[in-house]
Amino acid sequence: MTASTSFEAMDFYPEFQCIGSECEFNCCNSWSIDIDEKTHNKYKEHDRIFDTNICHEIITTSKRTEFKLKDDGNCPQLQSNGLCSIVCDIGPEALSKTCQTYPRQSRHYIERKSYLLFLSISCPEASRMAIFRQKKLETINLRNSSVLFDKNIPSVNLSGGTRQHELTINAIDRKLIDIIQLRKVSIKRRLATLIVLASIATKTNAQNNTNAAALLLEEANKTYKKNLDNIPELPENRLNQFITMIELSKTVLSTKTHSVEKGEHEAFTSLFATSFNGLGISNLNRVNKESFELYNTQYEKATKKYFDDKPYIIENLVSYHLMKDSIFFQEGLSPIDAIIKLMAYILMILGLSPGHSIQNGKIKDDDINRAIFLLHRRIEHSKGLRKNLTRKCKELSDFNIGQLYTFIA
Ligand code: SF4
Repeated sequence: MTASTSFEAMDFYPEFQCIGSECEFNCCNSWSIDIDEKTHNKYKEHDRIFDTNICHEIITTSKRTEFKLKDDGNCPQLQSNGLCSIVCDIGPEALSKTCQTYPRQSRHYIERKSYLLFLSISCPEASRMAIFRQKKLETINLRNSSVLFDKNIPSVNLSGGTRQHELTINAIDRKLIDIIQLRKVSIKRRLATLIVLASIATKTNAQNNTNAAALLLEEANKTYKKNLDNIPELPENRLNQFITMIELSKTVLSTKTHSVEKGEHEAFTSLFATSFNGLGISNLNRVNKESFELYNTQYEKATKKYFDDKPYIIENLVSYHLMKDSIFFQEGLSPIDAIIKLMAYILMILGLSPGHSIQNGKIKDDDINRAIFLLHRRIEHSKGLRKNLTRKCKELSDFNIGQLYTFIA
């Protein structure tokens, strides 16, 4: 890191505080936490000097070293008061890299010599701070970066090739965020605009071609200045939305995820089961007309009303992802695939809610937050699921790009 390196963060980053025992889905439960070699050696040394048993609760396989979780899914170091015994007995500096930094993450723009710091919304508290707020999500410059930036925070390196190209791509990303935050325009038209621009980016190969990227930036600026009025609003198609939601759910539920522990698996499957039970669906391969009619009625009554009252939820979700993952820098994905994958994630959050609202009486912020962080957690931690979802989205988008868009309509 050089003296000229700059640091930005999503605006909620500096305020974040782990809520520990208050957390509804504590990351000290159900997650296998990697213990890096240096930390493992520290624990061995501690056991030797103080005659403690930390290493008795650690298992090492050919792939990783981790704490062996208890039957209830808790980390053996988690005390009944919700505090970590490593922190209490030795100090926070004795935690493994993962425990010290989660949910903090970063992106490193190599050419620009800058970092963007953010929090993973697989943490319920980070998700609440990022998504359930009326204030637009922004990035801020960090002056006191040494306090907030720890070199252990996992980072994704990004380079657009040349500095000029990376700057142009970054300006497009910034414009896409301005577009999704253009509140005088309906959220449907804002999302449609992202699809149109991502489609142009893909056709012109703007992610690899600086001239095409410059033209795309010009187009995005023009569209923004016209308040997106050159972009048509696509019609609603609730049946398409329902069918695609079922197809995506099948993909998510049938993808085996090896590192997931029992507690998380139960929470995740119950997210889907509660919704589908509400709609009277016991088998995703035998969905009938009555289920769709119930879905449609409940969508109008509960989901539509909830998201009409809180349009900032979808806006913040999209802003967060555009800030965190440039649509031009996603491994193996074209910009249009990247946008469609994002739409698919949003579709599942919307599409599970009618069933939840039948089961829970109405839609509550906590239900939506649960869907957001559990889905994010699963997708973030399963390469297999990311691959399968991408394949499924490609199949769907080959069929009809507008189809995925209609999730949101
Ligand atoms: S998931 Fe987030 S709020 Fe919950 S215990 Fe972990 S860091 Fe804290």
